[in-house]
Amino acid sequence: MNNPYLLLTPGPLSTSDTVRSVMQKDWCTWDDEYLQLVQTIRKKLVVLATHQHIDYTAVLMQGSGTFTVESVIGSVIPKEKGKLLVATNGAYGTRIVKIASMLNIPVVTLQKNENELITPIDVENVLLENPDITHVAVVHCETTTGILNPVEKICHIAKNHGKVTIVDAMSSFGGIEIDVHEWHIDFLISSANKCIQGVPGFGFVIAKKEEIESCKGHARSLSLDLYDQWNTMEEFYGKWRFTSPTHTVRAFYQALLELEKEGGIQERNHRYKENQTLLVDEMKKMGFQAFIDHHHQSPIITSFLYPDKEFNFPSFYQYLKEKGFVIYPGKVSEVQTFRIGNIGEVYPDDIKKLVDSIKEFSTKKGTITL
Ligand SMILES: *Cc1c(COP(=O)(O)O)cnc(C)c1O
Repeated sequence: MNNPYLLLTPGPLSTSDTVRSVMQKDWCTWDDEYLQLVQTIRKKLVVLATHQHIDYTAVLMQGSGTFTVESVIGSVIPKEKGKLLVATNGAYGTRIVKIASMLNIPVVTLQKNENELITPIDVENVLLENPDITHVAVVHCETTTGILNPVEKICHIAKNHGKVTIVDAMSSFGGIEIDVHEWHIDFLISSANKCIQGVPGFGFVIAKKEEIESCKGHARSLSLDLYDQWNTMEEFYGKWRFTSPTHTVRAFYQALLELEKEGGIQERNHRYKENQTLLVDEMKKMGFQAFIDHHHQSPIITSFLYPDKEFNFPSFYQYLKEKGFVIYPGKVSEVQTFRIGNIGEVYPDDIKKLVDSIKEFSTKKGTITL
């Protein structure tokens, strides 16, 4: 059962043995027992997302996280007079722009550098210049770098201007406390294999009921029709329209129980922060600088600059993999970076072992100043 290495990547990530073991049973997709499981998951997700349960609902969607982003973008913006503002400072924000363009949705892009926050003022200025914008989309933790955008303030501004708000909280939901009601988020998107610590196979949306109710007939795709998926789950008590990833759903339920057992999002956030702080402090001692200013850094994933020109990422990667750690290449456009995630079934002791392995690598290769 044991994995040959720990995934220090932002999803898929290392899951617990118990999450993986509940996938040993086959489920019937229309049987009551399974539908009940889906309904329980939907309720639990709303409870995790807000204190204002009654105004919100949850809908699950097959596919990786991007499929769910696409289902939201393609289903909530009206075909007539819809215009989307995407504020982006990384690859995932830019992916939303691409999705909107492919779906022929008019889009305004607010582009910031990858190491800069999107500020509420930036957003307000664009909204003032473009009063015909109807929807605002932004990424919470931009996994490209690990930067954490001030989504609460951004959505507040967007609401003041009467816009519908869409937040890609894929890599933060479950690891960082969010209240969709307090933060004025109409559609929050995340997926099974990130901070809830399930396995890949579906994404989910926490939606304000009155907003999703008004989305009938907007979809530009049959299989990614968010309204229809939601409506079917509502009408038929947990039924998905098409084959659902049953094993993944069961594993996700187990992951939710384990999140509760850990003490909820607050405690999980605490663990991720401990992992991240320990990692950055130790890396600094070895000459590795984080790419993002620590004030804007999320506890989810950290980008590190290559320590010098001689740094050989492939051999660093391979060395760590043999030691039992899989890290992530960088995704920043201007500078050379690599990334280390802290999420998943990962504890400070694991980070300590990782740090020891990095020290060994440095000593062997002599490429890093100790
Ligand atoms: C992981 C992630 C996604 C979705 O990626 P998939 O590979 O489609 O699962 C979207 N946005 C952010 C911010 C992410 O971290």
